[in-house]
Amino acid sequence: MKPRLLALVIAALALAVTAVVLAVRPGSGAAGPDFLRFEPADREIRMIGDGQATKLRSILADVPSTLSWRVRVPARARLTTEVSLDRAQSTALAGRACRARVESRGDGRAAVLLAEKVVAPGNAWETVAVDLEPARAHDTELVFGVACDPAPPAVSLPGAARWRVPVVSRRDRRGEANVVLVTVDTLRADHLGAYRYARRTSPRIDDFARRGLLFRDAETVQSATWPALTSLHTSLHPSAHGVIWNGWKPRARFVTLADLLHSRGYDTSAFLANMKGTEHPGFSRLFLARGADQAGEDRAATEAAIAQLERVRDRPFFLWLHLVSPHADYAPPAPYDAFAAPAASSIGGRVTDLVAARERGVMLTEADVAHVVGLYDGEIAYVDSQVGRLLDALRGHGLEERTLVVFTADHGEDLHEHNRYFFHSPSMYSSSLRIPLILALPGVLPHGETDQPASLVDVAPTVLGLLGLKAPSSFQGVNLLPGGAVPALPARTAVFSETSGKIFSVSTPEWRLVYNPERLVPEAPGGPYPIGRTELFDRRRDPCEQGNVATLHPEVVQALVAEVEAWRRRDLHEGAAEAVQTIDPGTAEELRALGYIVH
Ligand SMILES: [Zn+2]
Repeated sequence: MKPRLLALVIAALALAVTAVVLAVRPGSGAAGPDFLRFEPADREIRMIGDGQATKLRSILADVPSTLSWRVRVPARARLTTEVSLDRAQSTALAGRACRARVESRGDGRAAVLLAEKVVAPGNAWETVAVDLEPARAHDTELVFGVACDPAPPAVSLPGAARWRVPVVSRRDRRGEANVVLVTVDTLRADHLGAYRYARRTSPRIDDFARRGLLFRDAETVQSATWPALTSLHTSLHPSAHGVIWNGWKPRARFVTLADLLHSRGYDTSAFLANMKGTEHPGFSRLFLARGADQAGEDRAATEAAIAQLERVRDRPFFLWLHLVSPHADYAPPAPYDAFAAPAASSIGGRVTDLVAARERGVMLTEADVAHVVGLYDGEIAYVDSQVGRLLDALRGHGLEERTLVVFTADHGEDLHEHNRYFFHSPSMYSSSLRIPLILALPGVLPHGETDQPASLVDVAPTVLGLLGLKAPSSFQGVNLLPGGAVPALPARTAVFSETSGKIFSVSTPEWRLVYNPERLVPEAPGGPYPIGRTELFDRRRDPCEQGNVATLHPEVVQALVAEVEAWRRRDLHEGAAEAVQTIDPGTAEELRALGYIVH
């Protein structure tokens, strides 16, 4: 591991375990601490589910117990937390009335009861949101207690009560920008109206793009969900963080964008319709969508995200919504299925059918391919409607003016242009690497488009930069808008991507080089996916990358290979690809259902 990465890992661990009372100031100009977050070092803190789809970052406490912290309560402050009792204690607590109380004791005054909630075993979370004006003082003790009457037979029930990590925040903090990150799985940029697609797949995203800044030439770091999304949040390339396949875990606890915003007092919540089998460090609320199909999961995730806006509208928040519909199976719900003509083709949009056809060497006709593409486009139209609902809710709550909205994707999709392949991993072509990237922050970001090359690892440092925050030195991406607006000079000139530290791509505005130094033939659903040792494409003349011109431009190949090698030495962790990891059976099953080969 490189020394600077190691330093950051250590810093991240320190961030997680040291502070008993962490008082931080987001932004500048405000007097006194605006946010207090309670993470006691001597208590176990875990992501705990509510028996349905949500997990909360929680402190375990005994029954009965009191936890207390001394804090300076600022003006116009409020406290938010949630409390529940473990379902496993139902027998021990049967017939008892259990209550959770929050009190303040300050400056020699008598205790003030701020909130009292009746709680019953069963993991249902009771929300506690109280005005702290009565407790406003320089030295206040906040006390969180849980007790039952009559007391349970054992002296105490360890870990039976759970408090969501409490946060004190100032109300009405205008000026602090919220962050909404919307990522859509498997979304090709060139199938959106905003990126000049001929079909009307994305009226809501197009409308949003007109109010934002669109990066015309953005690419992912690997055409696979877990590697790419981990890179988005850590600003590290897959071979650096170690998640080089779906289902793998990072080599270390790297700092994430959510960690950094959480430590500045932001509420951090994620609403996920894919990549549900991992921890997502830094998020204090995880919603893992369930539904009968991908459309149902996207609807559930969107609705939960909309409900969250109501909860956090008075404090800075970072909300991440990840939608999955354009991922195979391609099966848009009516009326979004109108782009596909059912009579035109015998092939459908199911993973199993498409994989079987490729395995058997069935040659799809133009009509077959057009039919599948129509189904894929219909899923974009459906997901566009869900994105529109979230944007409407943001506007409805009056949050649009002070919220940075980032719209992007984890990767694109091959639609039969290369190796007769539908799906994405391990494609190294623009079909699967090119992604949309649109940012909007009214009054700060200009409207328009830029040809500035952008990588998914640039999202986190750019978000931090727009909030006036510094990126940690571990981040490998660049702030695309160092002046807070379109830069006069490009922040980067080339974008690098990989397949698991073995096969590489570098793209510049003129060229793409695909470089496969070990001449590997990766496996893909339905059979091998051959990639040449060096493939060069003229991106301006041949945007679909159909003609390898490597032999015509040996000097370009040589220069770009040298760039890839320099990037590997600088940013990649050699050996990540050799690490052995096992994927738990549940995650493996989910990945197989999505058509992945599980490594
Ligand atoms: Zn994906």
